[in-house]
Amino acid sequence: MTRDQVYNFAAGPSVMPESALRTAAAEMLNYHGSGISVMEMSHRSAMFQDIFDSAVEKLKKLMSVPDTHEILLLQGGATTQFAAIPMNLIQGGDADYAVTGNFSSKAAKEAEKYGRVHIACSSADTGFEHIPVQSELRQTAGAGYFYYCANNTVYGTEWQYVPEVSAPLVCDMSSDILSRPVDVSKYGLIYAGAQKNMAPAGLTVVIVDKSLVGRELPYTPQILSYKTMVDSGSMLNTPPCWCIYMLSLTLDWVEAQGGVAAMDRLRHERADMVYDFLENSSFYRLHARADSRSCMNITFRTGSAGLDSEFVSGAEAAGLMNLKGHKVAGGLRASLYNAMPVEGAKALVEYMKKFEVEHHV
Ligand SMILES: *Cc1c(COP(=O)(O)O)cnc(C)c1O
Repeated sequence: MTRDQVYNFAAGPSVMPESALRTAAAEMLNYHGSGISVMEMSHRSAMFQDIFDSAVEKLKKLMSVPDTHEILLLQGGATTQFAAIPMNLIQGGDADYAVTGNFSSKAAKEAEKYGRVHIACSSADTGFEHIPVQSELRQTAGAGYFYYCANNTVYGTEWQYVPEVSAPLVCDMSSDILSRPVDVSKYGLIYAGAQKNMAPAGLTVVIVDKSLVGRELPYTPQILSYKTMVDSGSMLNTPPCWCIYMLSLTLDWVEAQGGVAAMDRLRHERADMVYDFLENSSFYRLHARADSRSCMNITFRTGSAGLDSEFVSGAEAAGLMNLKGHKVAGGLRASLYNAMPVEGAKALVEYMKKFEVEHHV
């Protein structure tokens, strides 16, 4: 198949803006007349420092990151932050975790190694199909932070509000960063693995309140210390140079589309189209409760596992790729990240309709 015959609904790594890929391809062998590729460039060179600085500057502008916060571009993926966060912020020994899906469960479990983890709320016993409301959130006095995951990639739920808590707020935004406006000043720390909405895998963006930096536990590896990373400008060691370059190109695209406000409009346009269809179908079943649905990952199923796999293989033959659900959740999942064109959502609905007509008994 050719690229223009395909829509890629993968949950991550996932679709990237075509303009970013094209620019990267054009500059692959010779970046801006330097005669070398970004992949071949010293991370200590002035040319790479420019790429780094401009990526940080664009992100700062697009997300309106206040001067109170530092942007770090790190390695290790989101999962590394499951450990880094408690090591850096759990100082007093306690932290609250809202457990609303696969990755917040994993983060809470990892944090237990470093302190006392309190489950602020959990939707585990109903299959992570909803996000608890504010009045259900239990807070621990003196907690180092309150942790939640804004968008649950595996189960297809998304927080529709920002928790009001007294401890610094820590948020995993791996799968919805840059898709909607965020008031960064409300957060102690925001982090995101890049491979869903920003860049290839291998880069993690951390946005941390500077007043929280420098409190790490004594045994924290220096590579995981926010203080060390702030002091070294994210370059204690070699940063993920290529991913940072790709981030910069993606941010150019976000800016050209009209910034985060435009991303927010588009995400609703795509998701509404798919949810409207699924809600009115007696053939498909949605997983997430209506008040908690994600715009980025739509989880659903047909009447049986056999039909689900037929749905996936038929979709692939039609150029609609990667619609299989995550292994822990099963069923089907359509990921509609920023770079998914509205036409992709339209094509998906057309396919769903056709599949329903052919298989509804
Ligand atoms: C994908 C994902 C992760 C894990 O990311 P890695 O970079 O593979 O560690 C964590 N949290 C969320 C919300 C995700 O979507």
